[in-house]
Amino acid sequence: MRRTISAIILMIVFSLGISSRARGQAEIQVAQPRVSYTFGETLTIETEITSELPIQNIKIVLQPDEQIHQLAGDATQPSPGVVSFTLDLSNDFLGLFSTITYWFQIMLEDGQTITSPEYTFFYEDNRWDWQALQSNEFEIYWYEGDTNFGEKILNTAYDGLERIRQQVSVPAPQKLRYYVYATSQELQSALQLSGETATQIAGHADPALNKVMVSIAPGPAESLEIKRQVPHELLHVLLYLKLGDGYSRLPRWINEGLASTAELFPNPDYPLLLEKAYERDALLPFTSLCESFPNDAANFQLAYAQAASFTWYLQGKFGTSGIEALLAAYANGLDCEHGAEAAFGDQLSTLELDWRSITFHENPWLTSLRGLFPWIVIFGLFLLPMAALFTVDIVKHRKAVEENRVKE
Ligand SMILES: [Zn+2]
Repeated sequence: MRRTISAIILMIVFSLGISSRARGQAEIQVAQPRVSYTFGETLTIETEITSELPIQNIKIVLQPDEQIHQLAGDATQPSPGVVSFTLDLSNDFLGLFSTITYWFQIMLEDGQTITSPEYTFFYEDNRWDWQALQSNEFEIYWYEGDTNFGEKILNTAYDGLERIRQQVSVPAPQKLRYYVYATSQELQSALQLSGETATQIAGHADPALNKVMVSIAPGPAESLEIKRQVPHELLHVLLYLKLGDGYSRLPRWINEGLASTAELFPNPDYPLLLEKAYERDALLPFTSLCESFPNDAANFQLAYAQAASFTWYLQGKFGTSGIEALLAAYANGLDCEHGAEAAFGDQLSTLELDWRSITFHENPWLTSLRGLFPWIVIFGLFLLPMAALFTVDIVKHRKAVEENRVKE
């Protein structure tokens, strides 16, 4: 019995390994290719190609699943029938944790070009030995920490989903992949080796690819970081599932604001950060947080703190239906200012004044006056000397009148 099974397995391996006939007129056979790579360094694809007609050149085309552009290069033939291809992954980036589809284009000496069937491989950060835990909604991958650590992340993802559904209606995730790095430096290095910007990043969502990356070190602080990062990145993916292409039209402040309010353990630094910025009169206007957040570390953090606080304020004032209306307005293409006006009937700047007065117990009249300060200075420069001259004239006039009275 065991022998029969082994024979069947061997037959399957053999038939997979031999080849598949390529599309085209000439008969070409391509053996099942062998792929090996070191993440961010070198990729090698090897196979055997046999043809009844002489081959002039073999090209390999790679199509990463989230990249529009393809990568292509010439394969070498180190010996007859043997085909080898090498790609420098530090120069030509492939999408991290994504499926790469590739095929061969075989140019024959008679001018025909034959395209092979398509093959795939999964490109991952194989510098680490990943452990895995899966459910219908989530897949958790991590390399530092025990099973308990992975379970904590999975459970928090469900807690986050429940919390988010109290704030905004969202569809259920399906096999959303979490890749948990042990440090933000290791996560940033993975992003850099994939050709992505990584500065100041601790978590990263790729909603279109149904994956997120977070950085959480197993240890005493793990619970707080799990409660912060796991729901935060989940919110980004769920908003994408809800809004589709409209997701990319969301102003940054509402996208990050909602993600921050989804955190099950809010960042404890935010209140102090806001208070200090307010005291220094250094709060960022929300119109400057529509497209992107500032690059410098201090203002980057402040932008998150403001987005979270402003979103809390909007949720409190307009409720979940208000937030739904705001998301719909932005997803339908209204800009930062007009989206707020359509959803709430108030301009963003008016809402901002209201937020400031509530958050910092500020008098809104004085705040709007602060905006007029430059004009007050300009008026002052002209009006004060004139008023002074006027006063001097009056005094002179009164003196003269009094002197005349004395004379009389
Ligand atoms: Zn975020």
